Amino acid sequence: MSAPVANSIHDVAIVGLGPVGAIFANLLAQAGLRVAVVERVADIYDKPRAITLDHEALRVLQAIGLGDFMEQAIAPHNGSHYLGVDGEIIKIFDPMPPPFPLGWIPNVTFVQPDLEQALRDKLADYPHADVFLAADGVALRQDGDAVTLTAQRESGEEFSIHAHYLVGCDGANSFVRKQLGIGLDDLAFDEWWMVVDTLTSDPARRPAKSFQYCWPSRPGTFVPGPRNLRRWEIKLLPGEDPEAAARPTMW
Ligand SMILES: Cc1cc2nc3c(=O)[nH]c(=O)nc-3n(C[C@H](O)[C@H](O)[C@H](O)COP(=O)(O)OP(=O)(O)OC[C@H]3O[C@@H](n4cnc5c(N)ncnc54)[C@H](O)[C@@H]3O)c2cc1C
Repeated sequence: MSAPVANSIHDVAIVGLGPVGAIFANLLAQAGLRVAVVERVADIYDKPRAITLDHEALRVLQAIGLGDFMEQAIAPHNGSHYLGVDGEIIKIFDPMPPPFPLGWIPNVTFVQPDLEQALRDKLADYPHADVFLAADGVALRQDGDAVTLTAQRESGEEFSIHAHYLVGCDGANSFVRKQLGIGLDDLAFDEWWMVVDTLTSDPARRPAKSFQYCWPSRPGTFVPGPRNLRRWEIKLLPGEDPEAAARPTMW
């Protein structure tokens, strides 16, 4: 983690070191720009999130030097079978056959926290990329030449970063978006799902396909991830309590 440098100016300040902020910071640092990133949380978010990626994302990751890492971190997404109410197949999505237009398998599975760690490790290679973890972006001020970002450490201590540009990569509840008064269209599709990642004991046969269980009584999804990762996504029904559902004893 970096210490703030007094009276220095960065080319770009980034708020948020999730996958978007970390990829952007890597691209800018690779181009020789001086980058500062503030991230509210010190640790990488370890709960299940993204499990599928496409070949365009893989090309970006390759461009920042993570091609070899991704090659061993992914597994092919072999398509999905949609199962109807009686268990019959009602739709099939097959994977695209070779030759692959971008050189990578068009759809793959991966583990988001592993990728985020690789992105942070890569960023640490650049001496001109300053990363401030456990530092919350709390205020922005723009003058004729630069933007000043005020960040606050967990202790309450504040420090400033001056940059020619600032980019908000701070997720769905973006503080940058709110500070700049940028609107958000909420499509109001809110549903509670329980997402369960499991690691099977080795050796485990990898099921070939993903399954979408189109069952009105309990819609669900199964996705085989890379190596021994298996994911289930289970829709919570109206009236079911998400907090209660998160307790292992519920199931
Ligand atoms: C269950 C689930 C399954 C998903 N599956 C897929 C999938 O298969 N494929 C796919 O592509 N996507 C998937 N996604 C979405 C994907 O995980 C997100 O789109 C991705 O994490 C967004 O990255 P981000 O960097 O924009 O935001 P985030 O990952 O939310 O990162 C934003 C970061 O900004 C930090 N931050 C916020 N405010 C501040 C502040 N004021 N100051 C400093 N830091 C701040 C946060 O701590 C956070 O680390 C899934 C998501 C979920 C929840």
